[in-house]
Amino acid sequence: MKTLEQIRAKLQEYPIEVTFPDIAEWQTGNTGVDYIHTFDSGVAGPHAMILALTHGNEVSGAITVNRLLRSGVRPVKGRLTLGFANVDAYRRFDSSNPDASRFIDEDMNRVWSEARLDSSDDSQELRRARALRPIIDSVDFLLDLHSMHEEAPPLMLSGPLAKGIQFAVDIGVPEHVIVDAGHANGKRLRDYGDFGDAASPKNALLIETGQHFSVRSKDVALDAASRFLITTGVVVATDLTEFIKQAKPVAQQVLQVTQAVIADTMDLQFTQDFRGLERIELAGTVIARDGDREIATPYDDCVIIMPSLRHLGPGVTVMRLARVLDSW
Ligand SMILES: [Zn+2]
Repeated sequence: MKTLEQIRAKLQEYPIEVTFPDIAEWQTGNTGVDYIHTFDSGVAGPHAMILALTHGNEVSGAITVNRLLRSGVRPVKGRLTLGFANVDAYRRFDSSNPDASRFIDEDMNRVWSEARLDSSDDSQELRRARALRPIIDSVDFLLDLHSMHEEAPPLMLSGPLAKGIQFAVDIGVPEHVIVDAGHANGKRLRDYGDFGDAASPKNALLIETGQHFSVRSKDVALDAASRFLITTGVVVATDLTEFIKQAKPVAQQVLQVTQAVIADTMDLQFTQDFRGLERIELAGTVIARDGDREIATPYDDCVIIMPSLRHLGPGVTVMRLARVLDSW
């Protein structure tokens, strides 16, 4: 049986191209909750929020929220909230073990069910989620900024509902929109409460901006966050021009996740050096081996979504499989 350390030692190491901003100055916000800053325009309109650091090592979001706060951007209508989620994990970042500070006790993007938040369970992440909850409950439009273990094109995760897909299309970036229902082992923030209710006008998106530590990922995060704010109408485009640097794709591709590939053992290996968005032409193509088990594509033109062995373990999702949606 291989250990996670042995598996990680064989994976590509990515250079840390960006500086981790010192965000201590943002600790005391104006909401009563540390690291959360809110600005009310005084004009009727929606409440838009950008949240960084749901995962503690996903620095592109931290850079983005830090830059937006520093820019002094303010809403022209409604309310703008900018914040950092798992700051305690972020503070523990160690460049010699860059994956370790994803969270402290548990994945903060799996705690967002009402049942879990209301339970007597305790963890560092649950405590933080409970502190954020009253603010999140008042948000109409949320963008949760994430990045990926491996270098791959950015992905917008719209959730399973048509309103999420439409929001991603309205924003217009990035090129690939992933339609998925989240994870069996706990609810994501983007699926929490009214965000996951088709009848509610509230809407949330999660963007994966690229590899955690790349300059490109940081540029994608700033660009997408700015376009998100403009789309909500809460901030005007002329206040964000310095952050919009990416070319808008001519057309977006919407990919429907159909299933997850979940490891049974520590011996799971991919049959190719998948990085994400590879399109496998033929059904039945073996894409991974997990001990004696062969894992094959279930249909033609199957697209590989976010493959990674960096957190391999029994029960861990190592990639998802998707179909291209021609219409939705
Ligand atoms: Zn993440």
